[in-house]
Amino acid sequence: MKDNNSSKKQVALITGASKGIGKAISLKLASMGIKVVINYNTSKDAAQKVADEINSDGQNAIILKADVANYEEVQTMITKIDSVCGPIDILVNNAGIISDNLLVRMSIEEWTKVINTNLNGTFYCTKSVLRNMLKKRWGRIINIGSVVGLRGNIGQTNYAASKAAIIGFTKALAKEVATRNITVNTVTPGYINTETVDVLPQKLKDHIRTHIPQQQFGEKEDIAHIVGFLATQEANYITGQAISVDGGLAI
Ligand code: NDP
Repeated sequence: MKDNNSSKKQVALITGASKGIGKAISLKLASMGIKVVINYNTSKDAAQKVADEINSDGQNAIILKADVANYEEVQTMITKIDSVCGPIDILVNNAGIISDNLLVRMSIEEWTKVINTNLNGTFYCTKSVLRNMLKKRWGRIINIGSVVGLRGNIGQTNYAASKAAIIGFTKALAKEVATRNITVNTVTPGYINTETVDVLPQKLKDHIRTHIPQQQFGEKEDIAHIVGFLATQEANYITGQAISVDGGLAI
């Protein structure tokens, strides 16, 4: 299989990288010598702090704003990256939101905003980088799904639908591009110590832990490590997979 060992620095775009899992993935890829583009939507200062941390370590990062749910903003961002950094080698579709409610009470807006960000955002970013990857005959597309897309969860029909759809998207696209040295995979985290999980009531957190075989939440770095590996040449024979990193929750 073709190697991508040209002397030029590889370029990775991580969506929603101003905090949480996206930040940890950015730090990991930067530590691997990859130039990282930190995408954010509203948290400019936080994104800049991530970039400063990376650049002060002698690695390479820039920040770019785009709402991944807006196709035009995504296209503008990708065009800018192409001209400033060169074509993207690695895309990590990490940006994601929740807007929980029981289906009977769920508004059209709650449904639509989650689908637009999590699913359409993944489609828009992937579509915008794919042509260059096909031309170069090398690429890594890594989507961040969720255990909820595998098992469902009360109050999260919108989120579960968006994350389950990402797995189908991953499998279909992996087949389309398999002969071009482009791999497409989804990492499906369980409960990871982030702001999203921190805000849950303590009683609920204790209850959730009892259902996790390892009886603990994961760390952001647990996700960053597998993403880092999937981005390498060594991972070239892994494609179309949904890889659970969840302490056994999906078993
Ligand atoms: P956070 O809420 O901590 O961070 C979300 C990130 O997504 C922020 O950087 C935010 O940027 C960005 N974002 C949100 N909407 C948009 C948008 N429209 N366009 C661009 N960026 C956007 O999330 P986590 O780190 O917890 O989650 C990251 C991913 O992992 C998500 O896809 C989530 O579904 C998934 N996941 C998380 C789990 C967990 O336990 N935390 C478990 C399973 C999956 P900004 O602040 O600039 O708007």
